[in-house]
Amino acid sequence: MTRIYNFSAGPAMLPEEVLKQAAGEMLDWHGSGMSVMEMSHRGKEFISIYEEAERDFRELLNVPANYHILFLQGGGLGENAIVPLNLLGRKEQPATVDFIQTGSWSTKSLNEAKKYGNVNVAASSKDAKFTAIPARDTWKLSKDAAYVHICTNETIDGVEFQYVPDVAADTNGAPLVADMSSHILSRPVDVSKYGVIFGGAQKNIGPAGVTIVVVRDDLVGKALPICPSAFDWKLVAENQSMYNTPPTYGIYIAGLVFQWLKRQGGVAEMERRALAKSEMLYGYLDSTGFYRNTIARDCRSRMNVPFFLNDESLNESFLAGAKERGMVQLKGHKSVGGMRASIYNAMPIEGVQALIDYMKEFEKKHG
Ligand code: PMP
Repeated sequence: MTRIYNFSAGPAMLPEEVLKQAAGEMLDWHGSGMSVMEMSHRGKEFISIYEEAERDFRELLNVPANYHILFLQGGGLGENAIVPLNLLGRKEQPATVDFIQTGSWSTKSLNEAKKYGNVNVAASSKDAKFTAIPARDTWKLSKDAAYVHICTNETIDGVEFQYVPDVAADTNGAPLVADMSSHILSRPVDVSKYGVIFGGAQKNIGPAGVTIVVVRDDLVGKALPICPSAFDWKLVAENQSMYNTPPTYGIYIAGLVFQWLKRQGGVAEMERRALAKSEMLYGYLDSTGFYRNTIARDCRSRMNVPFFLNDESLNESFLAGAKERGMVQLKGHKSVGGMRASIYNAMPIEGVQALIDYMKEFEKKHG
């Protein structure tokens, strides 16, 4: 068996140890005589899996006791509707949401929110082709925003917040909502600075189909009457994420990933590895005239590294050579072009080294 290095933006690589454990437990989980997929979500076996996953996630991200951890469905895009449906009710209708537009995903979020409320784009880097994050002192926040939305890692564009913006003072205490889909659990986070954190699982957490929402107590119970019950955070929280049938197998795999993360040394260790991997790759990109990365240095993503070949006519040949060497999914998103290497928690440093070695070899041949 040969495993490839998969640089996909998601679904992405999972730790091999986790896949092996899941394979070993596939037919008979811990002597229960059944697969996790076959378990009742209300049975004691699954409840124990769920509770351990929730406990481990809380420990890994250091989530304070006054925050709920919800396991939902609907992905990051689903949350683009679920968040306004749950938070706009904090204010009189029609309420306003402030958005910081830093790339494709925050753009999708703000377009979705327009269905439910007024959207104020408080700052945008669209004119700069999303290669930087607008400086905090340029943001034009609303005095009465229901919340402020940021995407802390723009998966497509490759920009990542390296600080937590303080928005409360300018907005009469509006909570900060962060889409962390593509870098959650890759670095320590001061959860107390956010009202809501959400993320789809398929990058750093587990299989697609699970969405994690971390929400502060006081922001639960404000849903608009039109909010679907299955997505009303109050109902979901009151029912331990089992108001409806949760994505049980996905939660189980996420739980195995959390255990793996703890064995590796937690998110502090993931941050150390992410810095080592991304600095290696950016360092090489900055040292050659053959490839280039166009993102402002102070907001380069540690997880998603877009880059271009200066001679774009070589793109197809670059991708074909990578594939021959067991490195796949390096083609950039169509809205950006070029290449993109997504290097999440489960990508070993050897994978990044193999990519750099190949890039050097390709440059030598064509440069
Ligand atoms: N937000 C971000 C930052 C993402 O990277 C993605 C998926 N790539 C999404 C939202 C959408 O997630 P989903 O496809 O799970 O709805």
